[in-house]
Amino acid sequence: MTLYHVINGLLRVNTYYLVNEQTGGAVLIDCGENLNTIRKTEKECGFKVKAVLLTHAHFDHSGCAKDLQEQGAKIYISKIDAPKLSNEDNLGSHFGRKNRDCVPDYTFQDGDELIVEGFKLKVIATPGHTDGSVCFIMDNIIFSGDTLFKESVGRTDFPTGDSDQLVKSVLKLLHLEGDYNVYPGHEEFTTLSHERKFNMFVEFE
Ligand SMILES: [Zn+2]
Repeated sequence: MTLYHVINGLLRVNTYYLVNEQTGGAVLIDCGENLNTIRKTEKECGFKVKAVLLTHAHFDHSGCAKDLQEQGAKIYISKIDAPKLSNEDNLGSHFGRKNRDCVPDYTFQDGDELIVEGFKLKVIATPGHTDGSVCFIMDNIIFSGDTLFKESVGRTDFPTGDSDQLVKSVLKLLHLEGDYNVYPGHEEFTTLSHERKFNMFVEFE
């Protein structure tokens, strides 16, 4: 497995690629909004996007999911956030983006184990940033979306956001056993051990 990372779109979303060298297929964690960025990486690195796993429905994370779906990729998102892909709760209309109907191929919920393109990822529900936000855990990696950032956390002032829930969700991550590399939806990478010491939400312990 090779893990690639690119920054995609106006709001600089971290898009992660899990590439299975044996099949040439890739799974994207949060595709971002700019299809050209994805196409360029596909070409340069010589793989094909087979699936997109979304941490939540906000347009900056999901914007080109529909385009990728039309080209054969399967779209995965939580059952709760699925309708937001096609309505204004994805915030796209606030940034001049047109809403497009995007019906996911698969939905998941807390505790589900996804096996996609040979990768095994566990879904952990982390509501707060949106009510359907999730993190994905794979081996010693957490893809934390807009729930947990380096020394910070996601906003809760968008539709379906809830600050009490976000506190619970962040603490749920911090209380996982052992250490993990944390790959968030924006900004720098971090580790769980670093966040246990320096995250702004530690005071809620
Ligand atoms: Zn978001």
